[in-house]
Amino acid sequence: MSRPLRAEINLSALRHNLQQARQSAPNSKILAVIKANGYGHGMQTVAHALASADAFAVASIDEAITLAESGVPQPIVLLEGVFNDEDLLLLQAYPFQPVVHRISQVEQLEQLEQLEQVKNSQPLTVWLKIDTGMHRLGFAPAEATEVLSRLQSCKCVEKIILMTHFACADDSANVMTAKQIKLFEQVFDEIDLPRSLANSAAILSLADTHEDWIRPGIMLYGASPLLDKSANELALQTVMTLRSEIIAVKTIDKDESVGYGAKWKSEQETRVGVVAVGYGDGYPRHAPSGTPVLVNGLRTQLIGCVSMDMITVDLTDCGGDVGDEVVLWGEGLAADEVASAAGTIAYELFCHITARVPFIDT
Ligand SMILES: *Cc1c(COP(=O)(O)O)cnc(C)c1O
Repeated sequence: MSRPLRAEINLSALRHNLQQARQSAPNSKILAVIKANGYGHGMQTVAHALASADAFAVASIDEAITLAESGVPQPIVLLEGVFNDEDLLLLQAYPFQPVVHRISQVEQLEQLEQLEQVKNSQPLTVWLKIDTGMHRLGFAPAEATEVLSRLQSCKCVEKIILMTHFACADDSANVMTAKQIKLFEQVFDEIDLPRSLANSAAILSLADTHEDWIRPGIMLYGASPLLDKSANELALQTVMTLRSEIIAVKTIDKDESVGYGAKWKSEQETRVGVVAVGYGDGYPRHAPSGTPVLVNGLRTQLIGCVSMDMITVDLTDCGGDVGDEVVLWGEGLAADEVASAAGTIAYELFCHITARVPFIDT
């Protein structure tokens, strides 16, 4: 028998979550965000399952080419834009839509027509990104008008969509989001172009940000984008279930330790189950004793350090034997809860699954 660890991907749950985004913003188009290999779920699987999305967003042109070559018909947006002239020339071969966030990308577009290789350049749709407070990518509000008019003068630029990204939309109490919305409105007050502001958190909590294009990411994968609401409360369904089995069981006396560093000590006689999953599979090494785990559908907890290929769990109260089923996160145990116990976010748990874990579509 092969190692029992696997990541099951529930494609009907994925489609349900897209439908939730659609219902939350019925008048907006959906740019489904599938960067980082579809948040670790398998980019091509996700794209083909989400056939009703209006467009897809990725971080690199290589991801975009893989998608286009696999027959994805929707437009593909490059969230960080083009990195160099080579990327720019690829936009002549593929109808990708770059984000424009720095001045050299504007200059590249201005020079495109002069490039020898490009006689009649393809008309491009570009996403003009403004930095309204996140201070990561985007032009300062004061530069926006000038950059916009330069883009409008580029012969190769056919359509422009205005965008910005929220820093704190997950936290409804944070006043930053309202400031960002106001600044975006001020900058583009008189401009009649399509707009895009909302990530998952804003889609589910700020209807006035929906505008022309919403950009759902994490909600598609069934984790909650909001600090004060669970995925369940938001009617999102679990997409990834990381499942394994118990591969050894032993009973240790009181005052014995388990695992590397002998960090965890038994306060009573303890039945220890060894589970085939470790940080070599992407289970977080920093998950502490107490992190929840399901054994045969019953909740128990991690004890001792996470090893490369194994973890140890407490079977004293829940029972369980060799060959019994363990869920690390997914159906019956929200990834958000495991992430929070491990001091991270579900986004990172999903992205960190390593190549040796088999993916199974269900
Ligand atoms: C990743 C990303 C999103 C999606 O964010 P979620 O929080 O996963 O919904 C939206 N817009 C941009 C620009 C992004 O980089």
